[in-house]
Parts: sequence; structure tokens; C-alpha cells
Amino acid sequence: MSIKNILFKTLSWLQIPAWIRNNKPKQQIITVLSLHRINAEKDPVWQSVSPQNFKNLLRYVSQHYQVCHFRDIAGLINDKNNKRPLLVLSFDDGYADFMEFALPLLQKYQLKANHNLVYNCLEYQQTIWTQHFNQIFNHLYQQKTQTTVEWNGKNYLLADDKNWYGIYQQVFAAAMQTAANQRNEQIDLLLKRFNLAPLREKMMTWQDAKDCLHTGLVEIGSHTISHDILPSISNQEQLETEIYQSKQLIEEKLGEEISVFALPNGQNSPQITQMAEAAAYQFLLETGDRNEKWENIANQQLKILPRINVENEAESQIPLRVENVRGKIRSFFDKK
Ligand SMILES: [Zn+2]
Repeated sequence: MSIKNILFKTLSWLQIPAWIRNNKPKQQIITVLSLHRINAEKDPVWQSVSPQNFKNLLRYVSQHYQVCHFRDIAGLINDKNNKRPLLVLSFDDGYADFMEFALPLLQKYQLKANHNLVYNCLEYQQTIWTQHFNQIFNHLYQQKTQTTVEWNGKNYLLADDKNWYGIYQQVFAAAMQTAANQRNEQIDLLLKRFNLAPLREKMMTWQDAKDCLHTGLVEIGSHTISHDILPSISNQEQLETEIYQSKQLIEEKLGEEISVFALPNGQNSPQITQMAEAAAYQFLLETGDRNEKWENIANQQLKILPRINVENEAESQIPLRVENVRGKIRSFFDKK
């Protein structure tokens, strides 16, 4: 057993997660969990949460939390009858497996969730660029042969499957800095070089989104028009389209006010925050594996909330993830 696992086991045994959880209501700490795909499929780069593990997660949060929508938070914080800490289950992207696996379980446990949709994914069944990027690296993982991956003229040597994930992270970081046109060109070149037909991911439809709303359990938000990396967009008008027009278009499609905006890959900037505020969103969702105290944002017109990324983990790991023990330990060592 690794030192890390012994540490996590000890923290569980000491009831650290329960202690953290019980302190949340009086400190007004909001927990937001970030989720994407719920699916049993195996994916080496980006593993979905299995329906079984998702079910275990729902059981855990239904026992210990008041699971709510973003729009309910202000009311529940001031509700003296609510003794439980607040938690939002926040989904991004609009994968079709939400309808197949996630929604039936949310209905079974009668738990609310937020889902932030990418307009083009529903309108044109567009596959997000990160999925094509992952497709290339999943292929290379299966090949297990030495090769180089070229990105913007720089060569990355994939020596064996041991350095494969490290190289994936390096090229992904470079891709995040590349503007959309150039990024798509580079991805197309790699797909061609490795003889891969671009994958077509099955996304939700507008009817699916309406069905979600009809259950009363799902709060829909915007996750832009195209899922571009917002800080990589230099054209002001284009940035406005992603932030402002996505809200308008989704509202027109669903006949429902959209007040939540989730940043693609969590990438923010002061200009983006300003635009989201001008677009009259009420919540801006980042990443960051940390929590926020409500009192820090209660008076802000645009409330910025970080989210804790949920991974495909067994039942014993769920308290450590939801109480963000892992995130706290990581940030402690990062500061050293
Ligand atoms: Zn996304």
C-alpha cells in the first residue's frame, strides 16, 4: 500500500470527512461537485463515472446533504429549518448518457442537479474538440509503440506507455494556449497521421433538455456556444457570442431563464468575468477543487463558485472526494 493510500485510510478512520462535513452548515460552505459523463465505458484519458459509482455518490449526498439548485442556495442558507450543508451536483457538456444513466438515478433518489449545455452540441450534435484530442491519445495508448506527436511545430516523444500520460498533459496544455482555428488544424493533422476517423459523440437533443426541465430536478445553465477555450479568443465580438448569445439562444430554445454559466475547462479571466456579469448571469462556475463560503459571495451580483471534480471512485473514496480532503492535502503540498 502506498504512503498516500495509508494517509487517506487514516484520515477516513479518524472521521476527518465527517468532521469537515459537520462544520459546513455554520460556516455556510457550499459544496459544488463537477460531473461529466456517467457511463460504464472505459476511457484511459478521461474515465467516466460508472453508473454504480454514481449511484453510491447519490446515496452518500442524499444522506448527508441538502442537494439543491444554484437558484435555491440563497433561500436555503437563510432557512433556519435546514440543518444540512448545501451541495450542488453540477454537470457539463450535455452528453447523451446523462439521459440514459444519470437522470433515472436522480429521479430514483429525487435529487436535483444542474446541467450546463453547449449550444452547438445540442443544435448540430457537435463533438467537443477535447474529445477528438482524447481520441488521438487513447489510440496512442492502445498502440503502445514509440512515436512522436507534433503540436505547433514542436515534437513530443512518446517513448512507452509510462510517459504517455505525462506527454498527454504537456500537449493538452499547449492545445489550451492555441487559438481555435489553429487548434482544430493541429487535431485534424494528428487524426489523419494516425488514420483515425473523427469520433462522433452522442450528445443530448433539445427535446432531452426539455424532458430534463419537466422532471423539475434539472436546472439548465450555459456552457457556451462552441466550448472554445475562452481566454484563447482574442476577438471581443466572438467572446461576447460565446458568453452572451449562448444565454439568449438556450433561453429561446427552452423558454426558461438561464442564470448559470460554466467556463469551458474552468478557464477564466477578468474580462470574461466582466462579460458574464454584463450578460446578467448570477453564477459563474470555475474548477479548482475547493469550496467557497457563501458569505464571501452573497452580496456579489455574479457569484463565482469553484467546483470539485468527481472521479470514478469506489464507495470508500466518496467521503474523501466530496469533503475535498484530497484537494486540501494537494493544495497544502503545492504551497510548500
Ligand atoms: Zn465542458
